[in-house]
Amino acid sequence: MQESLLHRRVDLHCHSTFSDGIYTPTQLVDFAKDNAIEVLALTDHDTIAGLPEARQAAKQYNITFISGVELSVQWQGIPLHIVALGFNEEDAKLVNLLEKNQATRQARARKIADLLCKKGLPDLYDKVVAVAGVSQIGRPHFASVMVAEGIVDKPQKAFDRYLGNKHLGSLKSIWPELSQVMPDLAGSCDLILAHPKRYSITLTKLRRLLTDFSEYGGTGIEVVSGNENPQHVRTLETVCRDFSLSASVGSDFHGPYSSWSQLGKYTAIQEASLSPVWHKWLK
Ligand code: AMP
Ligand code: MN
Ligand code: MN
Ligand code: MN
Repeated sequence: MQESLLHRRVDLHCHSTFSDGIYTPTQLVDFAKDNAIEVLALTDHDTIAGLPEARQAAKQYNITFISGVELSVQWQGIPLHIVALGFNEEDAKLVNLLEKNQATRQARARKIADLLCKKGLPDLYDKVVAVAGVSQIGRPHFASVMVAEGIVDKPQKAFDRYLGNKHLGSLKSIWPELSQVMPDLAGSCDLILAHPKRYSITLTKLRRLLTDFSEYGGTGIEVVSGNENPQHVRTLETVCRDFSLSASVGSDFHGPYSSWSQLGKYTAIQEASLSPVWHKWLK
């Protein structure tokens, strides 16, 4: 295999039906096998409930499966995502944090429905709860219902018009503080700042965030998330080296419908100049 393609054997950020993904864990792992992925982490939002099924499926294909989760937190009022990798699924502190975030998701769904009512939309709550089913409820479930109800024609428009952070007001900072969450998990797993380019912050502010993140025990950043501008990836590689953090990679795959996020597909990184978090997991 060409050196430039090597890292695409690895995908450390994707979603299943246990949060806002389209595929069940088994379907996701089948798809990973079809895409020749050798190291896979399932990172659902605030839940590890899909891990046993995915691990079981990965075993039959000899895919190295890493426990993962994408945690919702906030820093200076900005909602952030932390990808935790390689933890013990019975870790009491992690389980406790997940239970709290899941309760927050439930309560937030009612509050988002109320907010939309104030903007003149019908009360979507019951339909959104039904669509989410056993999945961790989130804004994509609202977006699906808004498409089904003919309020918007595409999920993206639901975010652009109603669900994006700028529309959420105080609901955007409903999550636990980074400073509270990190010390509970630090030292027991890899803690990766997810998709830094997706937060609306300057590079200067990102460096301030990473100063705190490193101090609290953060270990790495996603230098690439899906199909990103190579210049942005170069910038994150520089930042990653400056803070002596490890590098993680992922597609943030949610389903086959997306043109910008496909399992195992992401902009090439300069692997040789970084400390890849997955090297310890390669066979
Ligand atoms: P939540 O977990 O409820 O905060 O929803 C976050 C999820 O919604 C992300 O993981 C994405 O799947 C999706 N999402 C967030 N922002 C956008 C956006 N601006 N456009 C499309 N999807 C988005
Ligand atoms: Mn998502
Ligand atoms: Mn995310
Ligand atoms: Mn994600």
